[in-house]
Amino acid sequence: MSSLTALTLAEARAGLERKEFSARELTEAFLAAMAKARPLNLFITETPERALQMAQACDERRRRGAPLPLDGIPIAVKDLFCTKGILTTAASRILEGFTPSYESTVTEKLWQSGAVLLGKTNCDEFAMGSSTTTSHFGPTLSAWRRAGDNRPLVAGGSSGGSAAAIAAHAALGAIGTDTGGSIRQPASFCGVVGIKPSYGRCSRWGVVAFASSLDHPGPLAKTVRDAAILLSAMAGHDPKDSTSAPLPVADFEAALTGEIKGLKIGIPAEYRVPDMPAEIDALWQSGIAWLSEAGAEAVEISLPMTRYALPAYYIIAPAEASSNLARYDGVRFGLRVEGGSVDEMYELTRAAGFGAEVRRRVLIGTYVLSAGYYEAYYLKAQRVRALVARDFAKAFEKVDLILTPTAPSPAFAVGEKSDDPIAMYLNDVFTVTADLAGLPAISVPAGLSAEGLPLGLQLIGRAFAEETVFRAAEVLEAAAGFHHAPAFLASGEP
Ligand code: GLN
Repeated sequence: MSSLTALTLAEARAGLERKEFSARELTEAFLAAMAKARPLNLFITETPERALQMAQACDERRRRGAPLPLDGIPIAVKDLFCTKGILTTAASRILEGFTPSYESTVTEKLWQSGAVLLGKTNCDEFAMGSSTTTSHFGPTLSAWRRAGDNRPLVAGGSSGGSAAAIAAHAALGAIGTDTGGSIRQPASFCGVVGIKPSYGRCSRWGVVAFASSLDHPGPLAKTVRDAAILLSAMAGHDPKDSTSAPLPVADFEAALTGEIKGLKIGIPAEYRVPDMPAEIDALWQSGIAWLSEAGAEAVEISLPMTRYALPAYYIIAPAEASSNLARYDGVRFGLRVEGGSVDEMYELTRAAGFGAEVRRRVLIGTYVLSAGYYEAYYLKAQRVRALVARDFAKAFEKVDLILTPTAPSPAFAVGEKSDDPIAMYLNDVFTVTADLAGLPAISVPAGLSAEGLPLGLQLIGRAFAEETVFRAAEVLEAAAGFHHAPAFLASGEP
């Protein structure tokens, strides 16, 4: 059965259609792979019974001749999406025992398309991080290892469990969220594809909020085609989310024509940051060459506000987080630590429930929103955000897409950056800009580092131009020909 887990989502869909195997067989193969991959700590909650029930329903629908578009496709869901009747923790102790009585819109859409839930994946606590090491449930380990070095590596974050599950063949696809890079950076670290669609494309309803104006649900998958299939099922207007875009959703898979002649690809000078490893720059140059050979035209562009994007993000995101996380007070959700007064109960609950990184964000956020500092920090960051968006708007008058590296480094070892928050925040230098501007951006595995670790390239598009992003990403993917497998698949050792 192990070969079933090596299929792409599109291949598995074809196999199911041709009745080469049943949804139950496919699901069982993934449940077995998940059990084998347990040392990687990919899932906070596995849902094997639910998965088998769902698979059975898929097989029945297929027998009746009425299959759904994703019928029988087993996927993993970041534990930030509320799932009715299934523990949802945001990887935080404060949500201990929280079992939502509702389903997020995005997951509901996936189940209505026939997808099968394998379980809820590990992530950074409240999606705050770039390594999946701030989880209350311990770090997720990558399926990859450096050549000749057995130290466990991070999967990236915050959607690290989702990305690593795909790399370890423990899920056919997965969903995550991206607030500053949390889909694309773990995709880059794990050698998989991840797309953050335009802001408003996928509903945030039922997703545990981190920074509402920046939170973007999106898919991770083995291939660009698989990501396109998943996004088509997840996206769409949702009246329950006031920021959801009332726009029709295209069939993103149909956009994969392989034809990019005449597309103009912007290469932003400001993304050549100091201290960027030479191998990342070299891969970027290869990316430019691959797209040019396929008929696109590379154009030098300037995004002058880039260097202010990261500091602005690390003001705006904590500000929104401090306000969103005020609801965890020991009364309505999860953990409650009793105290002598209501105030003391709040304090004890929040002190015990939140980990160090979340507390740091709440403190920063509260500070930048407080009287006297609001204008100096928060308002200034909002102005920078508008200027970042304006940079992109100007660039997109001249180009159709922008090509950059996804992250400034390959995966690092567990614990390597944990005591230096700034080093951790620098991971997001290439990804936060598209979140601040709400633009669609994809990471495609494009090569290996000298140490044998995956590196991704990022394509950023105009708002709601996911079709163009996918089309060029598939061409990039084909040219890069990334078919490397992580050490875990060969050895089965974490
Ligand atoms: N690493 C970024 C942060 O810690 C992004 C996280 C995310 O996108 N959820 O804020």
